[in-house]
Amino acid sequence: MLMRILHGLLLLSISGLALAAEDRVFDVHVHIWEGEKSVKEYLGQLQSAGQDVAGFGGIHMAVLGKLDHTRAKNDDLVALSKRYPKLMPIASVHPYDGEAAFAELARLDALGVKAIKLHPHTQKFDAADERVLALCKRAGELGFVVLMDNANILPGDNQKLFNLALATPKTHFVFTHLGALEFRFWNILPLARTAKGLMENNIHFDIAGTVVLLADSPLEDEFVWTLRNVGIDNLLLGSDFPQMSLKQGVDALERLPLTEEEKRKIRWENASRLFSLEDLKSPAKPTAPR
Ligand SMILES: [Zn+2]
Repeated sequence: MLMRILHGLLLLSISGLALAAEDRVFDVHVHIWEGEKSVKEYLGQLQSAGQDVAGFGGIHMAVLGKLDHTRAKNDDLVALSKRYPKLMPIASVHPYDGEAAFAELARLDALGVKAIKLHPHTQKFDAADERVLALCKRAGELGFVVLMDNANILPGDNQKLFNLALATPKTHFVFTHLGALEFRFWNILPLARTAKGLMENNIHFDIAGTVVLLADSPLEDEFVWTLRNVGIDNLLLGSDFPQMSLKQGVDALERLPLTEEEKRKIRWENASRLFSLEDLKSPAKPTAPR
């Protein structure tokens, strides 16, 4: 009898573990505007919403010419990732800072940082500028994943980012918000992939905010069609905290008419592969998918 109970308990805990793995969520888009205060607010919001997170990308964005500030903020993120192991630091440089930006990239590489964020609108630069191209190329050589805002606030956003990714085939990009309301552009990808030698599979997206807006909207079917066209394997979930909560993003994704497997990939598996999350805490650089 005791053995039966023990066996039952074992089965229960195994299925519990399986469920936990199914439900894992990585939030790639969390703005850490105010250091530890932001981290605590983010975790507090998750707790009150009853939303678990397996890991999250904490984002900083560098200001042009403020080199000491940039280094300090990047160091702050790395320090926070030691205290909060779920936090993956997404550091930043400014593409117009020239050699200093390259030096900071090398320093971040030595610190084990795996990703940087660039934001043409917030950081006030042109995504088509040669300096952006050079920086993204270098970032890719060092193995960084480059997140870039793709909310189409600036004219030509999609087109510039697409050409940037074509020009730097060894750099893995995450274009955040998947073009927002201009998401239709990215349906060009399945056709572009048929052009021999044109592109690598280096374009990924997060669906932060956009998924909240488009779930249950008149555009929902077209959005789901787009998700499959750009490739379910290329999609990550993000909240864009503090503008939106992770719970909003998870719930919106759940409402989309996707399969369970597709949702699981978007919630966790794709991020896990792209950022080698199993060694989130080790300083070694990821080997896959490069
Ligand atoms: Zn954002």
